[in-house]
Amino acid sequence: MLAEYLARLAMQYVFERAKPFAGSAFANFVRHDIAVEAKKTIALWPYDLTLKASVGQGNWASVPWLAFFHPLITRSATEGFYVVFLINPIAETITLSMNQATTAVYNEHGERRGRDVLRRRAKDMAERVGDMAGRFNRDPISLGSDMGYPLGYEAGHAFGKTYTPQSIIDADLTGDLRALLDAYQALILRGGLTPLDVMQDEAGSQDIEEVRRYTLSRRIERAPDVRKKVLASKTLVCEGCKLDPVLDYGYSGKPVNTPLDVHHAKPLDGLAEGEQRLYRIPDDFLLLCPTCHRMIHKQDDPADLKQLQRSIRFRHMREVLYPTT
Ligand SMILES: [Zn+2]
Ligand SMILES: [Zn+2]
Repeated sequence: MLAEYLARLAMQYVFERAKPFAGSAFANFVRHDIAVEAKKTIALWPYDLTLKASVGQGNWASVPWLAFFHPLITRSATEGFYVVFLINPIAETITLSMNQATTAVYNEHGERRGRDVLRRRAKDMAERVGDMAGRFNRDPISLGSDMGYPLGYEAGHAFGKTYTPQSIIDADLTGDLRALLDAYQALILRGGLTPLDVMQDEAGSQDIEEVRRYTLSRRIERAPDVRKKVLASKTLVCEGCKLDPVLDYGYSGKPVNTPLDVHHAKPLDGLAEGEQRLYRIPDDFLLLCPTCHRMIHKQDDPADLKQLQRSIRFRHMREVLYPTT
């Protein structure tokens, strides 16, 4: 079914975009029906993904798309990297692509140099999950437009597959999509677009598996949605040393801005790459003050709260430390 819908999008887009954008039934078919169909397709697959189908905002886009976003990486096409179906409405082709956001790169480097950056990153992405890209190809793609964004999508394409409406078969498309989403997940587990030396610096280690686990943990902990939900489900006190920002420092800001850190405390080393659920809220998380958070990451097992608690040697005794104040 998804194949049918995408074929219809590829074949009818040029005709439909000659009509007014506002109130277009076709635009609605893409945004709604295609998105619903795609959701159904991936519903039983074990990924945490959001998705969106677009024909442009306020105006017809040159290249309509259907994208799959991992919430740890991005919630929109303007950031990070993601899996996307890109339509070339002139050639009437559908390309399934491991791709990346152009907006931030264009803003930083300008369009021409930005495309060089995108091409370089696309190569890095393809190499990082080279073992999972076997059924796809890395040839450049063509989207039939010389506008800035489509040229950016072309430059940002790491690997994928192109179909024609005549050749597209639902079972093939679904299998390819599943394989590309597996590669997406693997790319996230392996550090995404972050260069290896940067990951090694941050993790303070050279061991590749350790570096990947650390990078992924920090990514999970910093994801805004994760932080918000974990904070909402816990008492806002450090689970290591019991530091209470309100009692101990008179913290009076919003709970969401509490100085406590969210710590992902499920060992990621047991996580096979085929496994897709990366975390559960709140079970897999601890709330820690920044010092306890640093220290727990130095443990052999950064999930062992008991070990952290045993190592604490100070007490919050202001009267003892500062008797005159
Ligand atoms: Zn603490
Ligand atoms: Zn942590």
